[in-house]
Amino acid sequence: MRIGFGYDVHKLTEGRRLVLGGVEIPSEKGLLGHSDADVLIHAVMDALLGAAGLGDIGLHFPDNKMEYKDIDSRKLLEIVIKLLQKKGYVCNNLDCTIVAQYPKLAPFREEMRESICNVLGMQIDSVNIKATTTEGLGFVGREEGIAAYVVCTIDEYPIFG
Ligand code: MG
Repeated sequence: MRIGFGYDVHKLTEGRRLVLGGVEIPSEKGLLGHSDADVLIHAVMDALLGAAGLGDIGLHFPDNKMEYKDIDSRKLLEIVIKLLQKKGYVCNNLDCTIVAQYPKLAPFREEMRESICNVLGMQIDSVNIKATTTEGLGFVGREEGIAAYVVCTIDEYPIFG
C-alpha cells in the first residue's frame, strides 16, 4: 500500500464560477486559476500522483499551456487516474478536507462525492469529503481563498493466477 498527500489553494474573486469536486456551487465569488480552478480536484490529483511517485500536476499540466485554459479539472483527473492504471495502481480511498469560510459547503457534500467517484470509478464510501472553516482566521477566514487537503491510499492491482 502507498499513501499520497495533496494540497492546493486558489484565490476567491468576483466574476468567476465556484467549482468544487466538479460541482458548480452558487456563490458570489469563484476561484481564480488557469483551469476551472477546482481546488478540490487539484488536491485529489496531487495526492494520487504523489502516492504513485509521479510528480505533481504542475509537471503534467503546466499552467502556461493554452490547452488547459478554463479546462474542466475532471478531464485532468481522468488523465491522472489513467497514468496510475498504466503503472498498475488502483486507488483504495480518498479523504478530502476543504477549508472555506464561505460559502457553506455541507449541502453540496454528497454531490461532490458522487462527482469524484464517477470520474475515478470508485465506490461512494471510498471517497470522503469534509468541510471546515478557519473560524475567521487567516486568508481563508478573510474569504480571500479556499484550500483543500487530500490523503489517499493506492495499491497494486491484485495479480491472479
Ligand atoms: Mg490548483
